[in-house]
Amino acid sequence: MSTDWVAFGYLLSAILFVFGLKKLGHPRTAPRGNQYGMMGMAVAVITTVLDMHFDGGIVGWTIIGGGILLGSLIGYIMAKRVEMTGMPELVALFNGFGGAASALVALSETWKYLENSDAIPDNELKLTVTMVAAGLSALVGWMTLTGSLLAMFKLKGGIEVFGKWIRTPTWGPTWLNPIKGILFISALALIYLSTEDPTNTDYLWGIIAISCVLGIILVLPIGGADMPVVVSLLNSLSGIAAAFTGFIIGNSVLIVAGSLVGASGLILTVIMCKAMNRQLIDVLFKSFGGSEKQELTRTKAGSDADEVAMMADGAQKIIIVPGYGMAVSQCQHQVKEFADLMAEKFDTEIKYAIHPVAGRMPGHMNVLLAEANVPYEQLIEMDEINSEFSECDMAIVIGANDTCNPAARTGEGPLAGMPIIDADQARTVVIIKRSLSVGYAGVDNDLFYEDKTMMLFGDGKAMMTQLNNAIKDL
Ligand code: NDP
Repeated sequence: MSTDWVAFGYLLSAILFVFGLKKLGHPRTAPRGNQYGMMGMAVAVITTVLDMHFDGGIVGWTIIGGGILLGSLIGYIMAKRVEMTGMPELVALFNGFGGAASALVALSETWKYLENSDAIPDNELKLTVTMVAAGLSALVGWMTLTGSLLAMFKLKGGIEVFGKWIRTPTWGPTWLNPIKGILFISALALIYLSTEDPTNTDYLWGIIAISCVLGIILVLPIGGADMPVVVSLLNSLSGIAAAFTGFIIGNSVLIVAGSLVGASGLILTVIMCKAMNRQLIDVLFKSFGGSEKQELTRTKAGSDADEVAMMADGAQKIIIVPGYGMAVSQCQHQVKEFADLMAEKFDTEIKYAIHPVAGRMPGHMNVLLAEANVPYEQLIEMDEINSEFSECDMAIVIGANDTCNPAARTGEGPLAGMPIIDADQARTVVIIKRSLSVGYAGVDNDLFYEDKTMMLFGDGKAMMTQLNNAIKDL
């Protein structure tokens, strides 16, 4: 295939990726952004395969076709079967696979040198660049794989071994930090040595082993409310690994796509850190804890839907605070129905308070509420809406816990310092959840026990349906 056509194909896919990313910036245009991204990837794959075919370097159509078919089938089944609440775990797993795939390609390229010393580039600079890129790809790629697998189990909460549920630990003594530094420097030293002697596999195996351990000990201390930061960081790392591999195999679209994932993941990491009021360095090297669930010692009597409906009767302004429980119970449609009923019956102003880390993935609440056709203008970011709680008649918290837990205002614990939704400033607070149990970070919530708080115990969808029926009966 003419190199002009290959360059054109790669340029087209890079343009589609950039447009796709731009469109992903707004919920209304995000589906189109996804389509652009998919088209970009299809163009990149077709161009690469055709280029290899015409170049005579193709391994065989059966292997290529079989790989695409098998990969598509596994991807389709996983995407079809995953629950909306399991999406973050799937994303973490895909990050890990992305890192491992890049590292494997890099490994296979350098493996050539062992089997055939004629394949070693004569040009010393080219050899050094290839070996450094292969080492960095292995370092970042394998670290991303083990880190992402651990992150996946942390998001799941644990792992089942022989029918016994083992909670994923969060463990990070300070003496672990120098070990991380030593391992990192050792990996860099091995990369240097591999450039001196590219035919010695021991260096590469050493880098792989160190990277796997690094991935685990980097993610192990991170837990609770800091998980969004580590997931977006791993996403960024999977892109960086792909970019390194692009250098090794001389594939420009892999460099572009990898850099885009790396840069956008890094931007998201910074946004998440800001939302959590944390420095990235603190998240990585200072464990805030969060795998232990605090024991509950207090009780609180529950209210019923009729009582809540009576309190809502004639309310001028209600702010809805959605959280992970809304995603679990899939009650976004009932929430929208409630908003419509209140607006129709009492001309109530309804707004939604969106915390940046509510749910289990960035934009989780926006996606769910958009699915229920809630107008985007009513979704207000935390910083903007917090000042409005003091003048609102009622805050209805639906399956949110950590994101409105006043414990975050204290200086200790896994939530320490995280900005929260000021739901406790509303005149009346209604909380819909099944029990008094803790949220993801495992911290008891004082808001539940306040006098002005009405607990509506039950599944989100069932409770919202009861509440809507009670409002209709008013
Ligand atoms: P939380 O995880 O703090 O709390 C969710 C609450 O929902 C639980 O306390 C649970 O209480 C309730 N719940 C569960 N199922 C139902 C149901 N069927 N009906 C009603 N309620 C239900 O949620 P938040 O959204 O407030 O906070 C998100 C947390 O997740 C933060 O700590 C964040 O850091 C973390 N996180 C966020 C990620 C992101 O990217 N957004 C990624 C990873 C972690 P009960 O059992 O009593 O019903």
